[in-house]
This record gives sequence, C-alpha cells and structure tokens, in this order.
Amino acid sequence: MQCLSYQEARKKVIEACRELRYAPPIETVDLNDAVGRVLAQEIGADRDYPPFDRAARDGFAVRSADCQQIGATLRVIGEVAAGAGFLDSVSTGECVRIMTGAAVPVGADAVVMVEQTRAGSDGDSVVIERSATAGMNFAPRGSEARKGDVLLKAPARVGVAEVAVAAQAGRSKLRVYRKPRVAILSTGSEIVDVDACPGEFEIRNSNGASLAVQVRFAGGEPVALGSAADEMDALRHGIERGLQEDILVISGGVSAGKYDLVEPVLRDLGAKFVFDSVEIRPGQPTVFAICQGKPVFGLPGNPVSTLVTFELFAAPAVDILGGAEPRSLPLLKAKLATGVEQHAALTHFLPARLEWPKGEATVAALPWQGSGDIATVAQANCFLVVERTKLKLAAGEWADVLPRRGIL
Ligand code: AMP
Ligand code: MG
Repeated sequence: MQCLSYQEARKKVIEACRELRYAPPIETVDLNDAVGRVLAQEIGADRDYPPFDRAARDGFAVRSADCQQIGATLRVIGEVAAGAGFLDSVSTGECVRIMTGAAVPVGADAVVMVEQTRAGSDGDSVVIERSATAGMNFAPRGSEARKGDVLLKAPARVGVAEVAVAAQAGRSKLRVYRKPRVAILSTGSEIVDVDACPGEFEIRNSNGASLAVQVRFAGGEPVALGSAADEMDALRHGIERGLQEDILVISGGVSAGKYDLVEPVLRDLGAKFVFDSVEIRPGQPTVFAICQGKPVFGLPGNPVSTLVTFELFAAPAVDILGGAEPRSLPLLKAKLATGVEQHAALTHFLPARLEWPKGEATVAALPWQGSGDIATVAQANCFLVVERTKLKLAAGEWADVLPRRGIL
C-alpha cells in the first residue's frame, strides 16, 4: 500500500466515511444542551426581525426633513421606552424621546443620539445639533430577516450564535443528530488501568483517557473499552466489541513489531484497508480501514502519535458520522522565532508555543524527546508543522501551526 501525505490520507478518510452514507438517528435536546451538536432541522424566522422599526440609540425620533439644518428646535411630544409602543404619530416640528430597543413612532424616520442634542429653552423642546438623514440609527422592521426566512440550516453546528438565533425564534428544544458513538480500545500487554498500581514494566492507559477527551471535543460519545493484551484472541474480542459502535479507534499495535497484531486481526475480520502508513512523524504507522461497515482507526500507541493522528484523521470521521460536514484542519500561519531543521523525509508535527509578542503570531518549537513525550505537549499550545517538502526553515519564515484543541 502506498504511503500517503497527511492531506491525502485525510481526504481518503472523508471519502470513505461519506461513501458509508450513514444517516445518524435524530434526537431532541434542550437548547441549553445543544452547543456543539449538529442541527437536524431548519430554524425559520417566526416573524420579521426586527419585528418593528427598532431604535439603535437612546435619543430622539425625528422627521429627517425637519433636521436638514444643524440647530433645529423640535417639540418633544412624549417618550417611548423599550417594550412600549407610541400611539400618536410624529408631525412636522415634533419629536419623541426614544430609548434603545424601542419602536420608532409612525411619522419619524430617523433617531438622533441624545449626545447630539441639548435641551431647548422652554422645557419641552430639544435642539438637534446635527443634520439627520432618513433611516439614521434604527433597524427597519424585517431588515435582518423576514418571517419564514431560514435562519439556520441543517446540518449547522450549534455554537453560541446559533443558540441565540434559535432562542430568538422561540425554540427551546432542537432536533439534532445523535452523537456518533466512538469505541476506544487500547492495546498492549504492558497497559494497565489508570487506577491500577503499575508493575515495574507496565504503563498506565493514558491514551484511553486522552482519546475520550478528543472524541468529546470532536463531537462524539466515547465508549471506553479499556485495554487488550497483544494476543490475537484478546484483540479479536476487543475489536469485535468495538465494531458494535459507530466508529472504532484503537491505540497501539500497528507498528512493525512481532506483537503488533492489530492489522492481522482486522484482516481476519474482513477489514478493507484504505491506508496503513502516512508520511508524518509522529504517527507514520497509522491505519485506516472499513471493517464490517464501520470506520476503524489504528493509531500508533505513543501518546503524542495517538493525539496527533486522532486530530488529523479520526476527527473528520466523527464529523461525518455525526451528520455534519467535515471541518477543515484549523491551520494558522505564524513566523518562526527560531529556525528548525528535520531530517526524516516526513511531515513533522512538533510541540511548539504560539505567542503574539508584538501583535504578530510567532511560533517556536519546544525541545522534546519524541513521540512518547506527552509532558512536553502539555507545555505546548500548538504543533509546528514542518512539511516533508521543506524540512529546513529559517527564523522569520512563515510556517503552518496546528492549535491544540481546547488550549488555543
Ligand atoms: P505501540 O504503538 O503499541 O508500539 O506502542 C508504542 C509506545 O506507546 C509504547 O511505549 C507503549 O507502551 C506506549 N503506549 C501504547 N499504548 C499506550 C496507552 N494506551 N497509553 C499510554 N502509552 C501507550
Ligand atoms: Mg504495543
């Protein structure tokens, strides 16, 4: 099988997941719990927005024709506060004191900010200290949306603004796609539970914990399957259990060692391999297959490899099986604070710090010990991407940066 660039590998994941044509079940959630979910319904405007000509400033509602000259004096015939209407109309030479959010009275066609007026000499008049133009300082009825307009389309991802839009339209419940259930299986005869006291040569299952968080960040529901020893039967049992969920993510057991048995077990279970290596470091031996109709990721077990490869390859699968469009990788550009040089002809993801010392994004790789060194990643806020096609970058050059989710 050919070795792919990470961009090509990501595309293959997206294609293969789309080809599954999986239609996630739909459920109803409270608006309060909807953030991060994927809308399975359209949200339409139940009325015009704004529903009336809405003042955008505290001041006076005037007829602009009366205020062509600076210094016009107008009679104040009343006031209108937010939530109230004004029954009379405004005639020539008149105005109404108005508050932000109140309805502009009939007859008025502009609002002059209170700061641009002063009290008149007779107590019920006001001097307008600027000229007014029709439409000034108010949002006309229906200028944001007309009744029946689509405000949110499926499959929009629900963020803060979407919550506000749905609330504005009177929706306290939303129909959303069920989160994809993502089975997480760690492998390795050295792996013990986080709560266990590890023997001298044993390692705690940190990938199980970190992958669960990554699944949640990606919009999925983690299903923790613990760990399986590096034995055909144990792996087969764990993998079969994982294939009952929507997506299976396996950590470890995909390298070239004698006991890296994930690929043979998947093959026995009828997996169709899409790729089994990617031109990246860390993460080169990443495996992606479709097995019994389910996307399966075999991620190398070194904690940094697991973290990076989930982000690059598994996250888009969670998007697609969650009914959403796959989100692009959120790469930023930053200037290198110090030069970097890598030697292996792979695209490198190096733990790094992105800072904005003089308002300009600047990135510096951190010294680290390689793909087992998750502690250095915890000091980083991003990964510096050193492309395989340009392994040497000088200080001051622009480079791609992948922010750490939940940190930057
Ligand atoms: P592997 O990909 O199975 O060859 O494992 C590579 C390295 O990652 C080994 O040093 C493992 O002990 C370590 N490793 C594998 N799985 C985990 C895990 N679930 N949690 C923490 N470290 C792991
Ligand atoms: Mg292993």
